[in-house]
Amino acid sequence: MFDALADRLESAWKKLRGQDKITPANIQDALREVRRALLEADVNLQVVKDFIAGVEAKAQGAEVISGVRPDQQFIKIVYDELVEVMGDTNVPLAQAEVAPTVVLMAGLQGTGKTTATAKLALHLKKIDRNCLLVATDVYRPAAIDQLVTLGKQIQVPVFEMGSDADPVEIARRGVEQGKAEGVDTVIIDTAGRLQIDRDMMGELARIKEAVQPQETLLVVDAMTGQEAANLTRTFHEEIGITGAILTKLDGDSRGGAALSVRQISGQPIKFVGVGEKVEALQPFYPERMASRILG
Ligand code: GDP
Repeated sequence: MFDALADRLESAWKKLRGQDKITPANIQDALREVRRALLEADVNLQVVKDFIAGVEAKAQGAEVISGVRPDQQFIKIVYDELVEVMGDTNVPLAQAEVAPTVVLMAGLQGTGKTTATAKLALHLKKIDRNCLLVATDVYRPAAIDQLVTLGKQIQVPVFEMGSDADPVEIARRGVEQGKAEGVDTVIIDTAGRLQIDRDMMGELARIKEAVQPQETLLVVDAMTGQEAANLTRTFHEEIGITGAILTKLDGDSRGGAALSVRQISGQPIKFVGVGEKVEALQPFYPERMASRILG
C-alpha cells in the first residue's frame, strides 16, 4: 500500500538521524513529500494546501507511540486524514420515503453521464430495485438513442419524447410515468456541454426545481484531474449536488479528483466507474481511494 510515498517518507526521516518523534521542525520534509504525492495524483492545489494544513495540525499534536517509527506514525495520520476527508465509509444512494426516488444526473458531455445512468440502473436492478430512465438531452438526438440502446441492453425501460420536447417537461412527465408504473427509482439523464455554460446550468436548475430529486449526482471524469475542482465548485454553487460518480477510474489517473470533489462540495462520492461496460460500476470506498491517491 502506497509504497512509493512510504519509502520517500522513510528516507526523509533517515536524514534526521536521532530524531525519534514528530516535531514541528522535522515534519516539514515529510509534509513536502505528501504534498508532492497529492499533486502527482492530480489533487487540486488549493485542496492540497488545506489538506496539508490539516495533517500538520494533527501530526504536531500527535502523542509519541513507543515502538512505532515516526515515519510510520506520520503516514498513518496522513492516511486516516485522507479517509476522513473522503467521508470514512460508503454512503449509499438516498431513497425517497414514498417511491419513486428521483436521481438527477449532471455533468459535462463526454464524462460518462449516459453510461453512468445505465450502470446505476443495472446496479439497482441487481439489488431488486426497478428503474425508469428518462432521456432529456434533446440537443443531441444520438444521446437519446444511446440511452434507449443501453436501456434495451440492461432491460430497463426508457422514457423519451423525442428531441422536440422541452427537457423540463420530459423530466416531469418521466417522473409521473414512473409514479404511475410504481417503479422505485427514476434516473434522469441530462444534457451536458463541452464546457460549463449558463444555458446548461439554467436548464438543470429548472429540471431540479420541477422534479425535486432526492439525489443530484455530478458525474466527474477522473482523468480531468485538477479541473474536477472547478467543475465541482460551479455545479455545487449553481444547482447543489448531493453526491458524485467518479468515472474512468480504470484509466491511469491516481484518482486525486475524488479528494477535490469531496473537499470542495462536502458531498460524498457514491460510485466509481471502472470501464466502458454497463457492469463496470462499483460503490466508492474511501479507504481504497486513499491508498490509490497516496500511490
Ligand atoms: P456523456 O456524454 O457524459 O453522456 O458520456 P458517455 O456516457 O457517452 O461516455 C463517453 C465515453 O466514455 C464513452 O465512450 C464511454 O464508453 C466512456 N466511458 C464512460 N464511463 C467510462 C468508464 O468508467 N471507463 C472508461 N474507460 N470509459 C468510460
